[in-house]
Amino acid sequence: MRRAKKLFLISLTVLFVLQSGISAPALALDYITSAAPVTITNDVFTMTIPADVPYPTNIESLILAYCNWVQEASGLSFFPPGTAYENIIMRITNDGGAYAYGGAFGINVANMDYLLDAAGAEFAYLHELTHVLQFRLINIDCPPFTEAFAILNSAKAAKAQGLVYLYWHLMSFNYAYVDPSTEEAIISSDFETFYRTNEDGWDDYLYGFRFGVYLETVYGADIFTTIIQNHAAAFGTRALTRNEFVDFLLTQTNVDVFINFAEWYWQNKDLFEMKPEPPRFYP
Ligand SMILES: [Zn+2]
Repeated sequence: MRRAKKLFLISLTVLFVLQSGISAPALALDYITSAAPVTITNDVFTMTIPADVPYPTNIESLILAYCNWVQEASGLSFFPPGTAYENIIMRITNDGGAYAYGGAFGINVANMDYLLDAAGAEFAYLHELTHVLQFRLINIDCPPFTEAFAILNSAKAAKAQGLVYLYWHLMSFNYAYVDPSTEEAIISSDFETFYRTNEDGWDDYLYGFRFGVYLETVYGADIFTTIIQNHAAAFGTRALTRNEFVDFLLTQTNVDVFINFAEWYWQNKDLFEMKPEPPRFYP
């Protein structure tokens, strides 16, 4: 994600979870604070933690695990063959802001992401690291596809790791609510035009996610990875417009994929309704 509005909304959602009456879980992590900045570097990532920010003592192994999880879930690599990317840069915002984003360079997270319980941190890291996987292979300007991949790949990783709460949060809570009038507009008979042109950031998550679930249902769980790999093979990292990418998407699915989705959606809306919250636990 690259626009501040969207990023802000994501982080707000994380805060909401903490403040919505869920009994505060015992923090699974031990925290320390350093009086001077701390730089961690390894073959996968480099990060400098600002001074006076509490962070988990095992932060390096935690983040290495997050990196592995998103790679395993997608089958993609942070270091694609034939490319020459440096290790991932993890930037920390220490100005009280609460936003996160990811690109080919790496990710930006707020220092608040250390202060949350494990589920909140995983939410931010898995999502943003998935953006890194995509942008290191294909440089597309299609937010609904990019956000859907981040959401669904995070959910796959959560499921594979037994993170039941995070999986529920992603699949059955965070993107569950959509205003009915908005829904009517976005899942309309001309959904393709909407998908190609919408500029309202939060909607990109809502309909991108729904369309993404449809793609995985009809074309298989690996469809996002397949499209990304095929796009990389065809165009490399050349920047493509949103329309150019959607044209490619049609070649990978079906020329009527948007019409078919709109029909499917109204028969499968209950898939997206908010589900009861599972118990929170830490494996
Ligand atoms: Zn995003």
